[in-house]
Order: sequence, then C-alpha cells, then structure tokens
Amino acid sequence: MRIDRTLEPLRAVASLFYPALCTVCHAPVTRGEYVCQDCLDKAQRIAAPFCAKCSEPFSGAIDGEFTCANCAHRVLAFDAAVSAYRSRGVVRFVILQFKYNRQLHLRHPVAEWLFEAMNDDRLRDRSFDCIVPVPLHPARFRERGFNQAELLGKILGQRINLTLSRALERTRYTTTQTRLDRDERMENLRNAFRVRHASAVQSRHLILVDDVFTTGSTVEECARVLRQAGAASVRVVTVARG
Ligand SMILES: [Zn+2]
Ligand SMILES: [Zn+2]
Repeated sequence: MRIDRTLEPLRAVASLFYPALCTVCHAPVTRGEYVCQDCLDKAQRIAAPFCAKCSEPFSGAIDGEFTCANCAHRVLAFDAAVSAYRSRGVVRFVILQFKYNRQLHLRHPVAEWLFEAMNDDRLRDRSFDCIVPVPLHPARFRERGFNQAELLGKILGQRINLTLSRALERTRYTTTQTRLDRDERMENLRNAFRVRHASAVQSRHLILVDDVFTTGSTVEECARVLRQAGAASVRVVTVARG
C-alpha cells in the first residue's frame, strides 16, 4: 500500500509525458503511440507533381520534372528540399504541440514523418556525410529548452546511421518571421548563421534538418553559409511544408 501511494505521483507524472491517448482526438492508443491511426491517415501527403527543388505541390497534370515559379529564376544553395507532408491539419497540430507546448514525447511521431521524406528519389540511395540541424539562437534555446530540429535530426541519424553535426550556430536573434514575405525574411536572416568549424563541413555532403519549410528562406540561408564554408552539397529535409 505504502509503495503504491509513493508511486502514484510518479505514475501521474509519467502519464503526462507518455499519455496513452491520441494527441489529436484523445482516442485510446497503445502505449508508446502518440497519434491514432485514424488521425495519421488524415495527414496530408505531398504527392506528385511537385517542384523538383522545393517540393511545392502543383495542382494539375504535369509530366516529368518541373521547377516552380519561385525556384525557376533563383540560384539556390540547396540541391533540393524534401518533405513528405503538408504543414496542415494533424501534422501542423502535432508539430505545434511538440514545439511550443513542451510535449517532447511528440518528437517520435514527428520524426517518423521526417523519416518518411528520406524515401524520396532526391534523397534515397544517396550517401551523406552527416546531418546538420538548423540551429536556434542561444536565447531562444533557453526560452524553449530544446532545439526541435536537433531532437529530430538525432532520431533521424539513429534511423539512417548518420552522425549529427552542430556545424551551424545562430549568431543573431531574429524576430518572428511569420508576417514577413520571402524577401523580407531573407533580409531578416542576413548574417544570422555562422559555421562553427569549416573543417566539419568542407567537401561534405550534408542533410540539413528543420521542422517546417515555410518560404524556405531559413534553410536557404543555412545552405548558403554551409556552401560558402566549403560543403560539397546541401539537401534539406523537413517534417512538413507550408
Ligand atoms: Zn486520433
Ligand atoms: Zn520550387
């Protein structure tokens, strides 16, 4: 009895971190699962046709490879940015819960969506040297307590047997980008990132990891800095795409 009572608060705490209910609809799920199958089935997959560079889906019939209007006249520092899902509905909700609501256990279903993107033609069967997460500014890190891109990159690295390199650091605290357009975002990000040790990226083929690809300006700026430091190539993988 005494032992039971002692364990009760522990169990209560444990159930906060490992709820056996679907995060989205609260239906019961098996322990160790966080989103039920019905909700997972509602996640919006990105299906062809989409832009070969940034994966922007195109509604209509296009045969073969094409590049969207946003990428067509631009020299991008990354070779391709791949996501398996749209950042909508269930996917968006779970990412937001993970990122802003301190539900760290949700890194598992989120990383699963990230891992699915590795099956894309632009990433599958390629050899990479390491995974580089998009860094957070130290002040933002203290505020949030974790870097979501790094947590996801770590799980991905375990799955595909690649090491994680904290090659990039964020040197400038940028204000929120949500209300800025693409050009304003690029301006806002100027000199925001720095390569810590060029030797860690020189002549390396890198996978840059982030949670969501919105306009692509963050990953583009990271890729630019990495290429400038001598990276052989940068491919981007994100959980979801705006
Ligand atoms: Zn559900
Ligand atoms: Zn594009």
